[in-house]
Amino acid sequence: MTEPRDSRAARPVEGRPHLLSFDVEEYFQVEAAARGGVTPDDWDAYPRRLAPAVDRALQALADHGCSATFFVLGWVGRHEPEIVRRIAEAGHEVASHGMTHRMLQHLGPEAFRQDLLEARRLLEDLAGRPVCGYRAPTFSITHRTAWAFDVLAEAGYGYDSSVFPIRHDRYGVPDAPTAPHRARGPDGGTLLEIPPLTLRLAGANWPVGGGGYLRLLPRRLPARALRKAARRGMPGMLYMHPWELDPDQPVLPMSRISRFRHRVGLRRAEDKLRWLLQRFRFTSVARQLDDLRARPQETYTYGQGTAQAE
Ligand SMILES: [Zn+2]
Repeated sequence: MTEPRDSRAARPVEGRPHLLSFDVEEYFQVEAAARGGVTPDDWDAYPRRLAPAVDRALQALADHGCSATFFVLGWVGRHEPEIVRRIAEAGHEVASHGMTHRMLQHLGPEAFRQDLLEARRLLEDLAGRPVCGYRAPTFSITHRTAWAFDVLAEAGYGYDSSVFPIRHDRYGVPDAPTAPHRARGPDGGTLLEIPPLTLRLAGANWPVGGGGYLRLLPRRLPARALRKAARRGMPGMLYMHPWELDPDQPVLPMSRISRFRHRVGLRRAEDKLRWLLQRFRFTSVARQLDDLRARPQETYTYGQGTAQAE
């Protein structure tokens, strides 16, 4: 496959590219399914549907000449290695989504260190390139799990994209910066943090850059948030999952609210992705990393919630 180009002659929207990411996991590995009783022991019982869904994402990116970052679950690398090879061969960035999709508060620092190492080795072998980015399962870096930044910094990661600056029942750091910033852990480890895109409305940050919100809300809202980020001179970070491009996936045992969040707008997700790809330029974090690091960054200390400008 040919290397995707980041800019084509007739881009409707000019300016710096935004960031697009996919969390690569099977539909039955999401936290809502885990809460509904689907354990890793059950995973083999569900039909795997990831490969064709990843191909739909790769095709949409190829059609629009964009590259993206794929945060791949280590489990996928182990059980479906061809998927990782295809992503890398298409010229996209392979980053880590950890090994097992357990939220960090259930792992603790030592198990997290091991999980990171195992996933990285596996993914680097398959992709044939260094892995320098990380996204925690279910955006589970919060003040409570801020030690993760110390572990990531020590492990030599280049960036993280695990903090959602919103109020949510399962995750989120509502007062964290909404733009890329330097995250500091309680032991002083620092790392570039690239939060997913939010939009400030009625005094709160709304997660318009991915998940059920992106699928449910009118597309003008993520578009507005992307333009707002661009005006601040920052890229917006969108995130999707390949399973969102698979509306015919089996229905899993989940609470009503979780099922709604998981399934709302699945039939429209690919159209929405293509609509955004048509109007905005997107690229991977790896291609923007030097540029992002060179910019002046606010430092935000997690675990305490204090910010200081530099
Ligand atoms: Zn995930």
